[in-house]
Amino acid sequence: MSGLPKANGQRYHFDIYAILEGTQELYFGHEVMINVNMVETVKLVLPNGEGLEKCYFSPTKRRGIERRSLLWAPCPNGQMLGENLDCHIPRTCAKPECPICSVYGGLIVGKQTLIGRLTHAGGVAIQRLLPEEKQRAMHPTAIVNDPNENPPQPFKRQYNEPGLLYPVYNHCLSVTEQEFTAVAYAFLDSLARIGSGNPKGATIYETDGEPLLVVDKYLVPHGERPVISPAETSVENAIRRFQSRAWAVNGGNWDGGSATTDNGNFQRWVGKMAYQKLQDWADTFVNDVLKKYR
Ligand SMILES: [Zn+2]
Repeated sequence: MSGLPKANGQRYHFDIYAILEGTQELYFGHEVMINVNMVETVKLVLPNGEGLEKCYFSPTKRRGIERRSLLWAPCPNGQMLGENLDCHIPRTCAKPECPICSVYGGLIVGKQTLIGRLTHAGGVAIQRLLPEEKQRAMHPTAIVNDPNENPPQPFKRQYNEPGLLYPVYNHCLSVTEQEFTAVAYAFLDSLARIGSGNPKGATIYETDGEPLLVVDKYLVPHGERPVISPAETSVENAIRRFQSRAWAVNGGNWDGGSATTDNGNFQRWVGKMAYQKLQDWADTFVNDVLKKYR
């Protein structure tokens, strides 16, 4: 038993594939060495045996940013969605009817577990560019303290360089279109809030005015998956692979940037059409969920 109530309508699988670009240097807090705040990197070995270290925007961090963007979503009654639902970080409500926990999962220790049906993937930067270490005058948490008692402690912080590209993927297992609207809202709303501290923000990378974005809604996976190998270090190759896979749907009938199979078991939206589709779903989330709290 999944512990989930019977869905109000047909369930589907949904996937989002995107290439994100850091629009400035970004700090993804990882661990603090003595006076150095480190970012997270991953190590891999190329087919020729050569070792490679890359910057990383971990899926678990992205998941946290998305959940927070839902919990902090503004409602007409002056409260945020998390307050209206009594759902918080780390104290999630774990109720099957919660629009956040039902998809992102929830846990009340020793009492109740609600398994999430959304998984996050990807995040290994394409370019071969290691983090940069910068000197900072004072840690932000020290600013609130009395400077006489607590003299500024210079510290170093690592940053992921601007312009790094991160292929990222969100996968939803058996959710209704209504449930997926929370994921669409969170994915779009979290883009400006990516990173710890300041500065923040990433954007969906564009080529010729088309965002590198694909959204699938399906019962059978008929489309090629635009996934980039973590070993890929060429932006040009990555874009080419993403584009060629994005436009490959087995038995798909294309109408502009969207494809549907004859039996309707697979639907795909690419580029601007995918972006528009996510915005429509995010609007539905605002109208149907956020505006309930007046
Ligand atoms: Zn909840």
